[in-house]
Amino acid sequence: MAQRTTTPRAELHTHLGAAVDPVIMWTIAHRQGIRLPVKDYWDFEDMITMGPDKKNRGIDDMDKNYYHLTELIQSSPEAMEETVHSVIGGGYRKCNLVLQELRFAPMKRNRTGERDLDFIILAALWGMRRAMIEYSQVTAGLIIGLDRTFTPAQNAITVEKAIRYKTDGIVGVDILGPDRDTFSMEAHAPLLKHARKAGLGLTVHAGETGNLEELRYVVRTIRPERIGHGLAAVKDQKLMKDIVKQGIVLELCPTSNLRNSVVKDIAELRTIIRTFIDNGVRFTINTDGPEMYRTSVIKEEKFLLAQNIMNEKEIAQCMEWAFKAAFVKPKENGKK
Ligand SMILES: [Zn+2]
Repeated sequence: MAQRTTTPRAELHTHLGAAVDPVIMWTIAHRQGIRLPVKDYWDFEDMITMGPDKKNRGIDDMDKNYYHLTELIQSSPEAMEETVHSVIGGGYRKCNLVLQELRFAPMKRNRTGERDLDFIILAALWGMRRAMIEYSQVTAGLIIGLDRTFTPAQNAITVEKAIRYKTDGIVGVDILGPDRDTFSMEAHAPLLKHARKAGLGLTVHAGETGNLEELRYVVRTIRPERIGHGLAAVKDQKLMKDIVKQGIVLELCPTSNLRNSVVKDIAELRTIIRTFIDNGVRFTINTDGPEMYRTSVIKEEKFLLAQNIMNEKEIAQCMEWAFKAAFVKPKENGKK
């Protein structure tokens, strides 16, 4: 599979919990003595991936049915090193991803306090560093996820860790997880401000579902450089104007949105993307997790082309925006 001739690409929105080859996850789970709910590899692969025949009712389902298990398997320094390493190398081999930003929530990988957060993060960084030495064309960075299931006090601990390892390859922070009644974006604003002041990039999952109020608050008050999804903005012309004015770039994940029933069908996806293009909203094309959704950046591009959602020129433009909006900067060819 010679991919050397494909255009160099960047992917900014990938979750580690959805990005690792099931074969690797299967072996890691066994090596760590994790008792899996299934005994046949193919049942396992079926459990942690979603083909076109599968759909979640929403992102809550996705979190419960898929991430719970992948996060458990990744909950050790050994697993973190190996999985991060595999994703970055795989992205280069499969899609010529010369720039990758990979995200995960460390607190979802410490077995509720049993494991040490610093070692989880350091192992991830070491896996990334190893991959960047092996694949010297690649620049990568890790985005540390806060999570809507945690309190501001818990997420504050995570922000401090992100800042501590900034010089080692942590490039930004994000807020992850499905909507929760207990979660307050306002209560997290000071944490995000603190991360930004320390020099980290900000991207926030917002407007993936219909929570327009939260998206408005994120755009107007948090003012991140990027927003994960941001789909709800199509319903608000003024909000799209603000996104454009502030130079915020949306990270779109088309297949993920369809599989998670966030977008009803291809026609709705087309309307959303065309509305963004018509309103001058800049966005990037991502997988959200190539293995879980059995996709890749190249497959996402092909899908958008085949469905007449975007043309070649528009797709190339998105890739240019991805390189520009990245928190890590690409290195010159071949330099380590
Ligand atoms: Zn996401």
